Amino acid sequence: MQATELSIEFFPPQTPEGADKLRAVRERLAVLQPAFFSVTYGAGGSTRERTFATVQEIAAAGHEAAPHLSCIGSSREQLRAILKEYEEAGIRRIVALRGDLPSGVGTAGEFRYANELVEFIRAETGRRFILEVAAYPEWHPQAKSPRDDLIAFQRKVAAGADSAITQYFYNLDAYLHFVDEARALGVDIPIVPGIMPISSFSKLARFSDACGAEIPRWMRRKFESFGDDSASIREFGLDVVTDLCQRLLDAGAPGLHFYCMNQAELTLAVCERLGLGPQAE
Ligand code: FAD
Repeated sequence: MQATELSIEFFPPQTPEGADKLRAVRERLAVLQPAFFSVTYGAGGSTRERTFATVQEIAAAGHEAAPHLSCIGSSREQLRAILKEYEEAGIRRIVALRGDLPSGVGTAGEFRYANELVEFIRAETGRRFILEVAAYPEWHPQAKSPRDDLIAFQRKVAAGADSAITQYFYNLDAYLHFVDEARALGVDIPIVPGIMPISSFSKLARFSDACGAEIPRWMRRKFESFGDDSASIREFGLDVVTDLCQRLLDAGAPGLHFYCMNQAELTLAVCERLGLGPQAE
């Protein structure tokens, strides 16, 4: 038995070629025996069919599949239909989120925050699903204050969340501080760190600015010094991410959730360096 619980996140492919590629990626990652593969969901339902198809395929291959479900821009009726679809497909776990509507697209709809979605799912389906929610060790970019964000997290747990997955981060102390603060508020669910392996620094920098994850100065400066030397970027990225994971596990993190960006190689390399997966047995 592997002690560290792993989970791996995909986004739903847009084309048949993308679906073929993801199938091969999933088969490679399956050697890590993750507890589940999760599949993201476009806010407002933009990926509804593709998320469902991807999840069905993962489940048909014998793995646990956890669809993400965001509530912003959706009606109760739409969400009820999706929950029914998942129930009928034998899905056991959902990652429940608010989501973000692209600016100028659609209206908020009947749900404003993720705690309302968690409440709705519990009211509609009882304990049928294991519910995961999002957590932000460096605070959600729209949060009024760190305290407000922590209380919002506590509200999702009080509404019935079983476990949390964090936004990715590279500051270990931010995660440890967040967990301490949550525990002080009586939150006792697992808070699994989200891990973003690094393939391209420029992409990571753009993405991090948008979602409020900080790339520490010492890392940023070093990545910048490599210019377009992708081999050095890859090697340094692997060192940094492996070290972060090791220190998280040493500090008692209950598992690791990989944002693999539909690529197998870096997640496999980090896990191999950590001694996780079948080769560890
Ligand atoms: P919430 O918990 O509702 O929080 C959103 C903001 O509102 C926070 O700033 C919070 O402090 C504030 N807030 C909460 N409750 C209240 C209240 N009652 N009053 C005032 N303020 C409040 N996005 C997608 O579109 N699809 C995905 O598949 C997806 N997957 C994700 C997976 C993970 C693990 C993570 C960490 C994020 C994911 N996201 C996804 C991004 C997420 O949807 C955005 O970060 C979104 O802005 C917030 O979603 P949430 O569920 O954390 O929202």
